[in-house]
Amino acid sequence: MTTQQAEAMGPKVVLVTGASSGIGEAAAERLVADGHRVVAGARRTDRLDALAERLAPVAARSGGGLDPVGLDVTDPAAVRAYVEGARERYGRVDALVSNAGVMPLSRLDSLLVDEWDRMIDVNVRGLLHGIAAALPVFTAQGGGHFVTVASVGAHEVVPTGAVYCATKFAAWAITEGLRQECDPSVRVTTLSPGVVTSELADSITEPGAAEAMRSFRAHQIGPRAIADALAYALAQPSDVDVNEIVVRPARQR
Ligand code: NDP
Repeated sequence: MTTQQAEAMGPKVVLVTGASSGIGEAAAERLVADGHRVVAGARRTDRLDALAERLAPVAARSGGGLDPVGLDVTDPAAVRAYVEGARERYGRVDALVSNAGVMPLSRLDSLLVDEWDRMIDVNVRGLLHGIAAALPVFTAQGGGHFVTVASVGAHEVVPTGAVYCATKFAAWAITEGLRQECDPSVRVTTLSPGVVTSELADSITEPGAAEAMRSFRAHQIGPRAIADALAYALAQPSDVDVNEIVVRPARQR
């Protein structure tokens, strides 16, 4: 193994958006335990502060750590400051995990236009803001790793999921385009979870969609399963690019 390949498997500076709950929180836990420096972004900084405190003993053992950063991914200047702040502090950014997302499902004829806009703003524009902020950094430093948390909704459409699935199809397409355009020193992974225990469905306001979600979410897996898949993709040597991972509950069809 070359030095460069070995370095790719060592401790990294990893930015995780949406780390205040669910998959992002589990990802932060796993990565800190693996000895990485996680720069955790979300709007609920009280949650991030509590996470940093909870992980302090883990970080002391592993050599990793967690920096809580207030972040709204819909604000391009804030995303730039988030990425730039990490680069200034640590001298490099090894990976950006674009995980922040919202899912207020509803039928189109409910006309919940504000909720459609919010999904597009967070799930699509938020992802693009991360790419715009990190791509110049990765290019200048000669490497980096983009990870997009998409969904099985990037591969299929279900009633009440038209707009949410559209945002996840878009996330898939943007990430695949990025993979094709990027220099080989930049790695690109799309990680698509199935039903995972989290707060994601709490934002559904339409009663019919909330009811449908209850049966759809009958079989769930914990967010650690997604964090483990992320850790696998990040840990590969620099010449190995894990492009797509789909992780579902075994009982999910
Ligand atoms: P959660 O609701 O538990 O977590 C969502 C995270 O996104 C929170 O940390 C939230 O933080 C953050 N977030 C939301 N809006 C913004 C914003 N504007 N700026 C910054 N952060 C924001 O759900 P999950 O953990 O399940 O979701 C994580 C990702 O996984 C999402 O992209 C989701 O679409 C995807 N996914 C989840 C599945 C599941 O079954 N759970 C299945 C498939 C995909 P805060 O509110 O503090 O800002």
